[in-house]
Amino acid sequence: MINCKNCENQFEGHFCNQCGQKANVQRINFSYLVNEFSKGIFQIERGLFFTIKELFVRPGHSIRAFLAGKRKPYFKPIAFVFLLSTVYALTNHFIGKNTYMEDFVSGMSEGVSDTNDIPNIAKVLNWMASYHAYTTLLLLPIFSLASYMSFDKSKDNYFEHLILNAYIIGQQALIYAVFSTLLYKLDDDHFLIGLPFLLAVFFNFWTFFQFFTDKKPRTKIFLTFLTYFFYLALLLVSLAIIGGVGKLFE
Ligand SMILES: [Zn+2]
Repeated sequence: MINCKNCENQFEGHFCNQCGQKANVQRINFSYLVNEFSKGIFQIERGLFFTIKELFVRPGHSIRAFLAGKRKPYFKPIAFVFLLSTVYALTNHFIGKNTYMEDFVSGMSEGVSDTNDIPNIAKVLNWMASYHAYTTLLLLPIFSLASYMSFDKSKDNYFEHLILNAYIIGQQALIYAVFSTLLYKLDDDHFLIGLPFLLAVFFNFWTFFQFFTDKKPRTKIFLTFLTYFFYLALLLVSLAIIGGVGKLFE
């Protein structure tokens, strides 16, 4: 029997069966530091690249497997969307282009400031544009509510939809990052400029198509369109609420 140095549980084997700590805890020294650092980086990298690869090869099946309990090899979903949105925002910062979020937002806020009576929405939209990575995280619950409303609620709960969409939005950010780097020399009216957006939407359809296994193909495609419809409706309602609340404080 081994006495666990973390929780004092008595156990046999390489790991404590109560708290999971290793049986053999080495004294902290230089080689511990080097080991911890390189192992830490290597594990993060392995999880990240495995997840990205799986999401490009079999996106719906791999997210389904994650939900069913195959968790260990995957990069954690919320960290995944946060990391890749940050990568995308930084990429665009360095190549000096607007993100899709910024283009969307500046288009919307121009439209809003024309009507001139709801200036708070424009402020909110501009704030959203400057914090792209965080905004993606804020929009994730709204997009997930839309997909939850569209698909069979008895099969996957709201939080499972959150995980599904976190992986999708993270992978879309990667698609945007790669393509905006490849295409950054093109003029804004070049026909390839919309390609990353189309690929991102296609990726979403493909993932939902694989993920929701128990429906007819055309039902799945219809429900994915319905998700986008609910998403836009929910966005407009949220903006109206934000604008209304903003007015109260004027
Ligand atoms: Zn223990």
